[in-house]
Amino acid sequence: MSFMPIKKIFIDQQVLELCEIELIKSKLNLPAEIVSHVRVVFDYVRSANDPVLCGKQTLYLTANKGKFIKKCPGTRFYNCCGYHILNVGTFCTMDCSYCILQSYFHPPVLQYFVNHRDMFKELDALFQVKKIKRIGTGEFTDSLIWEHAAGLSSALIPKFGRQRHAVLELKTKTTAIENLKTYDHNFKTIVAWSLNTDTVIAHEERDTQPLESRLNAAKICQSWGYPLAFHFDPIIIYDGCEKDYEAVVRRLFSTIHPENIAWISLGTFRYMPQLKSIIEKRFPLSKIIYGEFIPGLDNKMRYFKPLRIELYKKMISWIKQAAPDVLVYYCMEDDEVWRKTLGFIPKERGGLSKMLDESAFCHCGLER
Ligand code: SF4
Repeated sequence: MSFMPIKKIFIDQQVLELCEIELIKSKLNLPAEIVSHVRVVFDYVRSANDPVLCGKQTLYLTANKGKFIKKCPGTRFYNCCGYHILNVGTFCTMDCSYCILQSYFHPPVLQYFVNHRDMFKELDALFQVKKIKRIGTGEFTDSLIWEHAAGLSSALIPKFGRQRHAVLELKTKTTAIENLKTYDHNFKTIVAWSLNTDTVIAHEERDTQPLESRLNAAKICQSWGYPLAFHFDPIIIYDGCEKDYEAVVRRLFSTIHPENIAWISLGTFRYMPQLKSIIEKRFPLSKIIYGEFIPGLDNKMRYFKPLRIELYKKMISWIKQAAPDVLVYYCMEDDEVWRKTLGFIPKERGGLSKMLDESAFCHCGLER
C-alpha cells in the first residue's frame, strides 16, 4: 500500500465511546489526542507549512453531524447523472495535483465518520424507496483508503447485497481490495477505478497505485463476480497523450471483459480558479494548468471545447471498437459535446440518470 502515513490522530470527545473507535485505534496503533472542539484540529492543520499535506497526515475521528446521504450537486448547465453521495469521510491520503478537495475544505482535514449506526439508519430509509438509486462513497474521499483501518465495506457491501433497489459504487485509485473477496456482494456493489496514463499517474497522482496494479485489482474483483466501472477523469492533454490514452484503453480491455463493466465515464481536466495557486505551490513541476483553458458556465476552467471534442471522439472510437455495447458517459458536459462525439443527447434516451439506472439494472440485478 502506498498511502501517505498518518502522523497524528485526533478523536472527537463525543464519539469516544463508539466501538468503531477502538477498532481503528488498534489497527492504526498511533497515539491519539482527544479534543472537545474541531477548532483544535483546524488550528493544528492551519499552522503547518503545507496545510494540505498536513491535512492528509492528520486523521480526525468524529461523527457526521449532517446527513450521510446527499444528492450529488451537479449543475443545471451540464447533463447531471442523478447520483447520491454517501459521505463516509473527507479528504484523502493520496496526493493528486489536480484534486479539487485541496481547495474544497477549509482547511482540508482527513475526517472519518464513525457514527455508522446513524448511517445505516439513513440507508435503511433510502432502501425503502422502491426506485433505482446509485450511491457512491468516492466523491469527498477515496472509497477504499480506510479498508486497512476501519473495514467499512465489511458492513456496507453485504448491506447493499441484501436489498434490490440501490447500488453502491466504490471508486478508488488504490488496490485495497483484499477484504472484498469474502463479502456477499450479490452484485449490488460496483468497484470502480479511476484510470489514467502512466505519465499522468507518475507526475500528477502521488502515492496512488500504478495503472497496471489498478487493472490487476479490477481483474481480481471481476473474478469475485463484482460488476466494475472505470472513470477516465481527469483526461489531461499533453504532447503524446493520444497515443498514451489509446494504450490505456487497450490495456483495460485486454484485462477486463466488457460485459462486466457497468459504465465508463470520461471527463477532461477542469478546475476551479482557486485551485491554480495551490497546484503552483504544491506541485511546481506540474504543467497541467498551462493548457488552453476557458471558463465554463459553472466557473470552472475547461479545455477549449474543440480540443475536448476531438479527444473525446478518439476515446469513444477506441472504447467502442473493443466494447461496442458498454455505456460511456460524460461527467459534466453539455449537449453539444454529447451530440458531436456520441451522436445523441441524453434527453433522447430518457436522460443520463435513466441511462445509468438502466445499466445498473442490467449489471446488478435490481428491481424497479
Ligand atoms: S485519489 Fe482522488 S481524492 Fe485522493 S487525492 Fe487523488 S483525486 Fe483527490
